[in-house]
Amino acid sequence: MKNSKMVLYYYLGRGSLSQLKGLLDGKRGGKSDAFAVVVIDHYFDGKNLFSTDFLEHQDLVIYADTTEEPKTSYIDELTDLVKERGQLPVAVVGIGGGSTLDIAKAISVMLTNPGKSVKYQGWDLVKNPPVYKIGVPTIAGTGAEFTRTAVLTGPEKKLGINSDHSVFDQVILDADLLKTVPTDQFIYTAMDCFVHNEESLLGRINDAMTIALAEKSLDMMKEIFLGEMDHEKLLVASSLGGQAVANSSVGICHPLSYGLSIVLGLHHGFSICVAFNQLEEYYPNVKVFKEILKKYNIVLPRVMEGVTEEQLDIMAEATLKNEKPLSNAFGDDWKNIFTKEKVKDLLRKM
Ligand code: NAD
Ligand code: ZN
Repeated sequence: MKNSKMVLYYYLGRGSLSQLKGLLDGKRGGKSDAFAVVVIDHYFDGKNLFSTDFLEHQDLVIYADTTEEPKTSYIDELTDLVKERGQLPVAVVGIGGGSTLDIAKAISVMLTNPGKSVKYQGWDLVKNPPVYKIGVPTIAGTGAEFTRTAVLTGPEKKLGINSDHSVFDQVILDADLLKTVPTDQFIYTAMDCFVHNEESLLGRINDAMTIALAEKSLDMMKEIFLGEMDHEKLLVASSLGGQAVANSSVGICHPLSYGLSIVLGLHHGFSICVAFNQLEEYYPNVKVFKEILKKYNIVLPRVMEGVTEEQLDIMAEATLKNEKPLSNAFGDDWKNIFTKEKVKDLLRKM
């Protein structure tokens, strides 16, 4: 039986970032050397897009470089930087997209657990309780604010620190922070949520709770993208989708997207869109996705142009390593149904 851990507290509402000061002050308890680590997506560096009245002079602010998705080496480097202070912070805060949230989660875990972060990529490998952590998404879709994983790329694999210790203690959902996201990035990240829901619902690993969450999240996404855009509703849909997928599993699209990302270096949301666009035979909502792309004038480029037979082979192998998602989608006999040739045929279309 699964014992599912959820985020303990969340604020929801425009302007709710203003609550961060009170939360951090409460943790500092008036001590002048009590410091927080605040990881902010580098997009916000020098832009003054939100008030930073929650910061005290002793805090350590890290503008995280999210040009590439977070690597274990980057987490180790940042953790060492925090450790130079000689004492633990009272909180680790992440303000940004899935990449920044995962960096904050991973630092909070690595500050209290020995060794390098690569050691904790996997399931339930974290032993010691982490530093208190707060997540503040500035783009919606990954669901990272509500899940129990911090996805990292290590020297050998892209795999999360999947642990109850990776769950945020506190989340702040403030739609005002989403205003500056460019349309294409907005759609790519939001589609991650759309696809999490679709894969979760059509797989065999789910239960009444994950079905309820995923169905509602998917309905909300359709309303938002084909009806009226509503950033707050999108944050809620992302949170529901995150909880749904965290307690069920992805399916066919994610493994294919990992294959694309590994060889071509594509970002998660974008590679999800490229893959999902070719999966009409498996997912009924691909036609809805195509309507969304049309509405927002997004034309997905062909990414397989110039890809060699050898690279295609690596992509297919990387896709087929994902046993859990693929058996979730196809059942125990998945290897005979989703063959390497079938995978290659799908990839060639992308
Ligand atoms: P991201 O965090 O990688 O950011 C994408 C881009 O958007 C960056 O260039 C960033 O600077 C920019 N950005 C963020 N907020 C902005 C804002 N308000 N205005 C303007 N630009 C802004 O994007 P993402 O899609 O949210 O996250 C992808 C990452 O999340 C991947 O590494 C993926 O593996 C991970 N992920 C994690 C989970 C989880 O449960 N932990 C789930 C799915 C995906
Ligand atoms: Zn995803």
